[in-house]
Formats: sequence, structure tokens, C-alpha cells
Amino acid sequence: MPRLRYRTRSLRKIQKRTPGGHRTVHYEKKGTNLYRCAICGRPLFGVPRNPREVPRSSRRPERPYGGYLCAECLRKELITAVIVKYAPNIREKVLGV
Ligand SMILES: [Zn+2]
Repeated sequence: MPRLRYRTRSLRKIQKRTPGGHRTVHYEKKGTNLYRCAICGRPLFGVPRNPREVPRSSRRPERPYGGYLCAECLRKELITAVIVKYAPNIREKVLGV
């Protein structure tokens, strides 16, 4: 039975061969998933997997909703918001929604 702190599914087991020829089990942290767009689910570019380990300025794109929405979804949402605000009756024609 492994030690209590290793009995978690957030660690993955790795078989290692020691210099003496024995095989032992090492435990490593699992990698984190990619950050994804909140609307379409595609991976976000410009957002590292480990934001805590990089400088604050390179953690996410410097635009509204950067690191939350992808560029295409943000563009679509902004256009939709403007159209809904100023010309609600032409929304169907422009967006085809
Ligand atoms: Zn998106």
C-alpha cells in the first residue's frame, strides 16, 4: 500500500528503473488541461497551461475577455451586442440567426 499522501488520483504513477536494477513506482503530478473558450470550447491561444509560473503580463491576451473567450467569439458577441442595442430589427438579416 502506498503512503497516504500518494493515494490520490491527481497523481500518476510512473515505473522507474533504479541504478541498481530494481523497478520502483514514482508519482508525478498530472498535467493541466488547455484553457478553452467559454462559448465554442476551442483551445485559447496565448494562455499558458501554467499561468502561475509565468510573468503576469504573459498570462492572457490583453483585451476584454482575454483568456475567457476566443477572438472570433468575442468579435461575434460584440457585433451582436451593438446590433441588438442600436438596431434590433435588422439582427436576423445581418447574423442570419
Ligand atoms: Zn470561442
